[in-house]
Amino acid sequence: MAKDSYTHFANTGFGRRITKALGLPQPAKLRRYSPSGPLIEGPVVLLGATEASDLIAEHLLGWDLDVRRHVGPKEKVAAVVAVFDSAHTPAELSETVLELGGLLKQLKPSARVITVFRNPAHTEDPAARAARKGIEGLTRSLAHEMRAGGTANGLILHEDLATAAPSVAGALRFLLSGRSAFVSGQFITVDSVNGALPEDWTAPLSGQVAVVTGAARGIGAAIARTLYRDGAQVILVDIPPAGEQLAAVANEVAGTALQVDITEDEAGQKILTHAEQHYGRLDIVVHNAGITRDKLLANMDPGRWNSVIAVNIESQLRMNRAFLDSELFSRTEGTVGPRIVSLASTSGIAGNRGQTNYAASKAGVIGMVSAASAQLAARHGTINAVAPGFIETEMTAKMPVATREVARRLNSLSQGGRPEDVAETIAYLVSPAAAGTSGLTLRVCGQNLVGA
Ligand code: NAD
Repeated sequence: MAKDSYTHFANTGFGRRITKALGLPQPAKLRRYSPSGPLIEGPVVLLGATEASDLIAEHLLGWDLDVRRHVGPKEKVAAVVAVFDSAHTPAELSETVLELGGLLKQLKPSARVITVFRNPAHTEDPAARAARKGIEGLTRSLAHEMRAGGTANGLILHEDLATAAPSVAGALRFLLSGRSAFVSGQFITVDSVNGALPEDWTAPLSGQVAVVTGAARGIGAAIARTLYRDGAQVILVDIPPAGEQLAAVANEVAGTALQVDITEDEAGQKILTHAEQHYGRLDIVVHNAGITRDKLLANMDPGRWNSVIAVNIESQLRMNRAFLDSELFSRTEGTVGPRIVSLASTSGIAGNRGQTNYAASKAGVIGMVSAASAQLAARHGTINAVAPGFIETEMTAKMPVATREVARRLNSLSQGGRPEDVAETIAYLVSPAAAGTSGLTLRVCGQNLVGA
């Protein structure tokens, strides 16, 4: 991983003064999740006096947070949750928005702002939809204005969903916690009440079996470590040439290694057989393995185009068919069923010069998860994608220094994300508390300034 010496420098006393004086980016040290640490430290201010916001207060109080409706002018604030479900026209947004604005100068480092509102697509009333879309716009802009590692994200609720639902609590907790350190300017949609809150929030995946492809290194290895830390047993898949590295990561997480090329026709069946023999179950699939073979389309050869499509999307479609046909993976327990998360990329959303093949495959992933959510819903399961932006890995360490430095700073947090940031988001999406969210592509990109 390439060292980010600039962020280190900017967080020294001297560096802070210099970067401020020169108007240079000031990347903050982000608050990241630790199972032994607090969920969030300091007052959480709840805005919007509706029944929905009272029910949200109950979740927050249940986690022993210091929930307030008001704070004194000198008090530091850890988070603001602004509930907008009573706004039926854009004009009705102003009271809560201005109250939120009044609190921004009091935010602590790595603070959170979370807007909560009903899905704009679920109303045919032009004024109501305008108000709801307005909240999206203000949340995205506020994310650009946040400082000192703070983030702003939105929680978009289904029209009929009670905020008491476990799925609402799960999303709220993810956004408040250090798990979402590199997620900003994004929206989590919660559509159903399915799901369950864990007995132990430090082991939400306890008793579950997960498979992670491309787990020998980089983001895949971080996903395996994070799922293991959260209580899952992990099967780690990678190609035979990566066998030694794969075995090392598998040992670290007390998991089992399976050497298989995911483009093989039988890859899905091999994973199922391995899961059946070693664990007797399979609950979670993380399609992480992916490759880049960059070339301008004018110079593209069949090998580059076909290999990227084969690894990054066709293999996943084929494996998903095998998983969904099997009883091992399709079993449900109560309201919690199987989980699939697939790695997309911000290149699949915004496009990227030299990456027509990669962007086609990653946009394909976004299409696949939105279409497959109905198949998973029939089994109380979910399928989602995570789209990382610039993440510090061996892949990005190979970029030319200047390009890497620019890519790293071009987001609202002025730094690259870490493999753990992607892994934490995936761990949330596969957890029982995230059962209300499916078909979504969630960006982990620090709100990349380039692209959508
Ligand atoms: P990486 O190259 O470090 O690791 C990918 C792993 O996948 C390797 O261990 C490789 O051996 C394995 N793999 C490749 N082809 C395989 C196959 N046919 N069968 C089984 N395993 C195979 O990549 P990374 O940076 O950790 O990226 C992981 C995922 O995240 C990829 O899907 C990538 O496209 C995506 N992503 C990464 C970034 C980033 O900034 N690093 C950004 C956006 C998306």
